[in-house]
Amino acid sequence: MELRLYDTLTKEKRPFVPLDANNVRMYVCGPTVYDFAHIGNARPVIVFDVLFRLLRHTYGEAHVKYVRNITDVDDKINDRAARDFPGLPLNEAIRKVTEQTGKQFHADVDALGALRPSVEPRATEHIAEMREIIERLIKGGFAYAAEDHVLFSPQAMNAANSSLPRYGALSNRSLDEMIAGARVDVAPYKKGNTDFVLWKPSKPGEPSWPSPAGIKAEGRPGWHIECSAMAWKHLGEHFDIHGGGIDLVFPHHENEVAQTCCAFHQERMANYWMHNGFLQVESEKMSKSLGNFITIHELLKDWPGEVLRLNMLKTHYRSPIDWTMKSLEESARTLDDWYRVAADVVPGEPAASVVEPLLDDLNTPLAIAALHGLRGEAAALSGSLRLLGFLAESAAQWESRKQQASGVDAGEVERLLAERTAARARKDFKESDRIRDLLAAMGVAIKDSKDGTTWEVAR
Ligand code: AMP
Ligand code: ZN
Repeated sequence: MELRLYDTLTKEKRPFVPLDANNVRMYVCGPTVYDFAHIGNARPVIVFDVLFRLLRHTYGEAHVKYVRNITDVDDKINDRAARDFPGLPLNEAIRKVTEQTGKQFHADVDALGALRPSVEPRATEHIAEMREIIERLIKGGFAYAAEDHVLFSPQAMNAANSSLPRYGALSNRSLDEMIAGARVDVAPYKKGNTDFVLWKPSKPGEPSWPSPAGIKAEGRPGWHIECSAMAWKHLGEHFDIHGGGIDLVFPHHENEVAQTCCAFHQERMANYWMHNGFLQVESEKMSKSLGNFITIHELLKDWPGEVLRLNMLKTHYRSPIDWTMKSLEESARTLDDWYRVAADVVPGEPAASVVEPLLDDLNTPLAIAALHGLRGEAAALSGSLRLLGFLAESAAQWESRKQQASGVDAGEVERLLAERTAARARKDFKESDRIRDLLAAMGVAIKDSKDGTTWEVAR
């Protein structure tokens, strides 16, 4: 069976045909590193990690290149730096913020079982490429400098008589309607009210670089140009897959397409545009004001990363997901069971019943249903779970982590179990039942068999 992917641009599921099967290329928009990542940010990380693993499985590990950027120049970073390190020069404070947040992001996504991408470029290391693209856009008549800014003109793009894509095609909007609906208080240096910023002046003390377009004052890039530059540097002018959350379709991805296609005279930037749906918490939009804003870091204190991963993959990536405690508890119980059955066996090939739904536009809910059906085939279950990024630990590690997290003292449990065994030997069933109830109250479930008594922390 072949891989089929849904493309946001053409609005259809199509067979995936890579430009070069020896070098399959994917770009995903990464985090802006100013704070802990929230559980919504974990969704693209997990979804595109599954796709990365599936591509590696299909084309070979050495033939897939996955680029996920780190946005380390942004107003939110500057604000955070000024707030958290008021005594430091701004540039130093910014470095502290991006270093800390970047480290935390890595710790979080490692715990979620996500492989590191092949390259994780930082925006601040690609200013030269941004300037180059900007110069090309000015030369082509798609961009202009005004009052120390450089602006891109979607109208110039759509007026160009060429094989360029139409501005608005990705997000299914018409430029005329955007022009008609634009705000009236547009910045005075903009020629058209839909023109967007490629480069802007830096305020005193802010990070700044020599400007393109002969602008004397130093400045800094706009957000959209960063991704065009990093994708170009690491994947070329035209590549296979570009991903991110659905909120990025407009304006971010629409503008990326515009910049890249106009700079390099391309009809397409990526052949498949993939977008994950949004995550909400207990049926509400996640927001700081509602008090239901949860970071990955906080969740990892209560749940193993693989539980969060499974919980995310139970919903198809294009559907909205409702993140609930009930579903998390169920995911935890499922993983406990899979760890017991499959973690310590030699993995076999992933089962066709799991791989086939994945090949159908990453149908993870169906793949997970198939995993439930593999309980009697431990080797296939193990291989299939590993393909999906599970079973990073042994069964014993999993169980002991659960004990630690629950605060259960294993030594105390063993002592009580020995007492209970002694009570049973002298047929004091009242005492043995009392100890069993005591253990249950501690959150410990016991199981008697002819080989003795085993125990685990109950979920
Ligand atoms: P940001 O740092 O806000 O640019 O987000 C990083 C990534 O997380 C982007 O791909 C966003 O589309 C995605 N994202 C942000 N919030 C959510 C959410 N609530 N649900 C799903 N994806 C999200
Ligand atoms: Zn981006």
